[in-house]
Amino acid sequence: MSNLVEGATGPWEVVVGLEIHAQVTAQSKLFSGAATEFGAEPNSQVSLVDAGMPGMLPVINERAVEQAVRSGLGLNAKINTYSVFDRKNYFYADLPQGYQISQYLQPIVGEGIVSVDLEDGGSTDIGIERLHLEQDAGKLIHDQHPRKSHVDLNRSGLALMEIVSKPDIRSAAEAGAYVRKVRAILRYLGTCDGNMEQGSMRADVNVSVRRPGEDLGTRAEVKNVNSIRFMQQAIHFETTRQIDILEAGGSIVQETRKFDAQTGTTRPMRDKEEANDYRYFPDPDLLPLEFSDDFVEKIRLTLPELPDAKKRRYMDDLGLSDHDAAVLVSDRDIALFYEAVADGRDAKIAANWVQGELFAQLARAEREVADSPITAAQLGGLIDLIGDNTISGKIAKDVLEIMFETGRDAAVIVADKGLKQVTDTGAIEAEVDTVIAANPDKVAEFQGGKDKILGWFVGQIMQATKGKANPQLVNQLLRDKLKP
Ligand code: MN
Repeated sequence: MSNLVEGATGPWEVVVGLEIHAQVTAQSKLFSGAATEFGAEPNSQVSLVDAGMPGMLPVINERAVEQAVRSGLGLNAKINTYSVFDRKNYFYADLPQGYQISQYLQPIVGEGIVSVDLEDGGSTDIGIERLHLEQDAGKLIHDQHPRKSHVDLNRSGLALMEIVSKPDIRSAAEAGAYVRKVRAILRYLGTCDGNMEQGSMRADVNVSVRRPGEDLGTRAEVKNVNSIRFMQQAIHFETTRQIDILEAGGSIVQETRKFDAQTGTTRPMRDKEEANDYRYFPDPDLLPLEFSDDFVEKIRLTLPELPDAKKRRYMDDLGLSDHDAAVLVSDRDIALFYEAVADGRDAKIAANWVQGELFAQLARAEREVADSPITAAQLGGLIDLIGDNTISGKIAKDVLEIMFETGRDAAVIVADKGLKQVTDTGAIEAEVDTVIAANPDKVAEFQGGKDKILGWFVGQIMQATKGKANPQLVNQLLRDKLKP
């Protein structure tokens, strides 16, 4: 599969690297005890440290360190038991300290690898350059007053993990798949909720183009993109913009750009800073961060089964297809739901119901599996009713719809609406006889070799029994009675 983009003067290769900022799931901030809950009253979760008061002293949150290590392990990355917090100096109204405490030359996590599933069914490895811990900034609010801006420092000092990929991504589709995978891993690990709407995950997108086989081109960095769709739009826009400039004989300016969600375009924000513009230096308030291999190994022991391992197990042990397994492990909530449905039942049938009928209902209602009105136990109950021939698969789909609307159990709905399958041979036989007697022409067609007409007969009987006749019995009786 080729990712090359055809320009007017020949093919171009797109090169993308991502810096994902993922908010650490923790009760308190990176260097203070202030709360981290989303949506609180502005400035209600701000300690002296977060407000940048003179003389304040940051104290490292051990939980945030654990979460960073846990994430590093989940990204198959090297854990650095010695790392350093640096001050990244810059002025902005939402940054009262005048610097961000971050990690520069010695991050807590080094190189790693994320395997990403591609749309064509293949997969590719994207390298991780590093993961470091840093503070988030506050938030400026511009829409509360005609002439003033407000500052909310609730975010100030929240622990972020900045996950920097290598420039290994070659298309917008790969970028999307990579972010989805990283988000899935962090959610499995419980280290970030991955909620992009609430800002707990956002990405800086570095895009450049080059002729195939050439060195890396000059890149533009699109800041703070907060959805996968926007990120892909930004990559498409940058690709076209840069190719147009280069093909017209121009050159790309290394700069920071802003994405405009209204138009799907990017525009210049500022010249790209070099690292030395920030005057990084080790934060004198904080000792280097050191922990033992034992600390890392203890965390490793608590890691859950991650998506790649789970997918392999679903395929090897449960016999699911590559596609089904990929869909079911793509999100931790989906996997947990599926496993509860499949528990003690046929794994493939459970997979079909979860990612077929249930997902269709969820999509229609724009809901996530986590707030499905049908619980895993209820869906299991429905599948059991098919298994013991209480209802047919076709009726079960109708029952599922009612379950989705009402939240009631399948058995209750079936009893209430009299949907129990007719397995009484005598009753079905009577219907079969009636239909055969009324349609001698069709009988003759069938006997003349037109096998397909059998389906028509089945349809008639299903209609007469309101879909409740056991389909196997109907088929068998029809074949017997239609024999010349
Ligand atoms: Mn950062």
